[in-house]
Amino acid sequence: MLYRKLGNLEVSIPAIGQGTWKFGEDRHKEKEEIEALRFGIANGLTLIDTAEEYGNGGAERIVSQAIQDIRNDVFLVTKVSAKNCSYNGVLRAAEASLERLKISHIDLYLQHWPSQQYDVSETMGAMTELVSKGLVKYVGVSNFSTHLMQEAQYHLGSIPLVCNQVAYHLNDRSIENQVLPFAKKNGVTIMGYSPFGYAPHVFGMKGFPEVGSQERNVLESIGTKHGKTVYQVALNWVLRQEGLVTIPKAVKKEHILDNLNALGWDFDKDDLAQIESNFKIDKKGLN
Ligand code: NAP
Repeated sequence: MLYRKLGNLEVSIPAIGQGTWKFGEDRHKEKEEIEALRFGIANGLTLIDTAEEYGNGGAERIVSQAIQDIRNDVFLVTKVSAKNCSYNGVLRAAEASLERLKISHIDLYLQHWPSQQYDVSETMGAMTELVSKGLVKYVGVSNFSTHLMQEAQYHLGSIPLVCNQVAYHLNDRSIENQVLPFAKKNGVTIMGYSPFGYAPHVFGMKGFPEVGSQERNVLESIGTKHGKTVYQVALNWVLRQEGLVTIPKAVKKEHILDNLNALGWDFDKDDLAQIESNFKIDKKGLN
């Protein structure tokens, strides 16, 4: 497993983690979801990303069941929803997450989205309180612009802002404009989400004719050349960014295995040129 640094700290986390969006929404899928997480963890995917919002607390409950006897093997990330980002709201949300997860502390606690309602100073003030109480180890944000990252760090004072979790995949490269360079320079780990662009849409699988087959052909021909699937191409491409980590969501065992075997090879110049001309960096988006 490839590891990357969390912020500027002497802490390493796996470059590939496991997302849990859509977990805990259907009780018929619970067993499969718990098994998927445990299988991933046993094979090194020990970074788990969840949120109070996913499945309305359901995803955290699934994670809790998956990790109860292996808590110390896992680096656990969860998030407070924007609507709960008042000072007391954050404290209450963290307590509720800890209860659902049945753990004594959250490894990394993120503000899920910027809030229109509550100032970053209030939210980060509560984060500081959670760290001082030992309920949260590290603090981060999600979907934050460079400007908001600066504000969050300002209000955290001596507590480092170690992570910004943002969309990053072949069809959304907007963080390459400003967010990624800023994060690299300031020791903020970028945790890229939806590496497959909420697959299978992004790769133009059957049933999603709106996606150009040209792009899929590019990824397929690169994959064929290196003996990899298009998903492995997508993951390796995301992780070519130094210091970045990514959190694919996969329930199917064959998908988890595919993701585990995504790395350990390099794109050649021609591959990268093909990708550059088919997957452009949008100037709009998160900046
Ligand atoms: P994603 O990881 O880009 O795609 C997930 C989909 O890809 C699932 O349908 C999965 O299928 C499929 N898949 C996974 N590996 C595959 C493989 N090797 N081959 C073929 N198909 C494969 O989408 P995502 O869930 O949107 O993003 C990942 C995680 O990021 C989320 O779960 C969540 O934790 C986080 N996230 C955060 C935010 C935020 O605002 N902070 C927003 C979105 C997502 P199966 O499940 O059937 O195996």
